[in-house]
Amino acid sequence: METQTKIWLSSPHMGGTEQAYVDEAFKTNWIAPLGPNVTNFEDAIQRYINADVYVAALSAGTAAIHLALEILGVSHGDEVICQSFTFSASANPIRYLGADPIFVDSERDTWNISPTLLEKAILDRIAKGKKPKAIIAVHLYGMPCKVNEIQAIADAYEIPIVEDSAEALGSTYHGVKCGSFGEIGILSFNGNKIITTSGGGALVAKKEAHKKKAIFLATQARDAAPHYEHSHVGYNYRMSNVLAGIGRGQMEVLDERVAARRANFEFYKARLGHLKEIEFLNEPEGYFSNRWLSCILTPSYEMRERIRYALLADDIESRPLWKPMHMQPIFKKSPNYSDGTSEDLFERGLCLPSGSNLIQEELERIVDKILKELTK
Ligand SMILES: *Cc1c(COP(=O)(O)O)cnc(C)c1O
Repeated sequence: METQTKIWLSSPHMGGTEQAYVDEAFKTNWIAPLGPNVTNFEDAIQRYINADVYVAALSAGTAAIHLALEILGVSHGDEVICQSFTFSASANPIRYLGADPIFVDSERDTWNISPTLLEKAILDRIAKGKKPKAIIAVHLYGMPCKVNEIQAIADAYEIPIVEDSAEALGSTYHGVKCGSFGEIGILSFNGNKIITTSGGGALVAKKEAHKKKAIFLATQARDAAPHYEHSHVGYNYRMSNVLAGIGRGQMEVLDERVAARRANFEFYKARLGHLKEIEFLNEPEGYFSNRWLSCILTPSYEMRERIRYALLADDIESRPLWKPMHMQPIFKKSPNYSDGTSEDLFERGLCLPSGSNLIQEELERIVDKILKELTK
């Protein structure tokens, strides 16, 4: 009997040129958290995002959020608004700084932060005595958030946006690349993201001074002196030149990866879209998602679990949507402005295998399993 291979949710997908850039780092002995691969990777990201931005390659997307908040002046006792429906890495850095997260629920069109609830939260926090120091908005699963509406509110109250674009490299909003909208944007190159350096991230700044500050803080905050002089607490957050070599190679295939992920989504939609039990998130006019993960909504928690278990029994990995931060034990005391949207999405939603390296046979195997489960 033929043994079936495991199908992963989202696995790394090398393009072929990564190894050569890594070898270059070895040959030139640039085995350090700086070097030509780092600079070239940053330039490639900047060219791709194609906006007036300054890119700093870091050890993780989480590190980029931490630095972004610190650069925007967030410190102990401050409040930071954060989209509740996201991965915990969006919110944890608020706590690293001793600040308090204020969670805001999502809207239905994009599953991202609701402009209505955002404004309500800002007004309420101001009434309670503190204006939030920053807004962390996320493009979840690659779908851009309602950038214009959110920006208008941020501008009206003069609160900077940290744009968590960890899942949205390659997505665009009215033709403009995600990562370029916030006062500071962040990217992730973790192993399961649209492209990867095994682990890594980047900070994308509108101001060159912010990039400089990010690199200063990411390299132990050394003052200018021949000896080691420190007047700031620093971090060790810079990207390795070895890993940046992987990133250079991955940038060369990014558009292909986006196309492959979007094709996965279109395949699922074509084969499952007619079922009354399955709903997909469509792109609003002007939105272009990289479809990092293809997600479905089922009618109930029970139905979602039936599908998840049926896939699991066939060695196919799927995953419930992110559990909202306001429902997490670590954040249960944090204020939240919720209307039940993300709780409902969490209950009924499932991420299907979405790797850019899935082959047709695997995609067929996945939909066959789901169809079988729903018609049984
Ligand atoms: C992956 C991810 C991060 C964190 O990135 P790392 O590189 O894993 O530290 C932050 N926010 C979101 C929404 C993510 O999906």
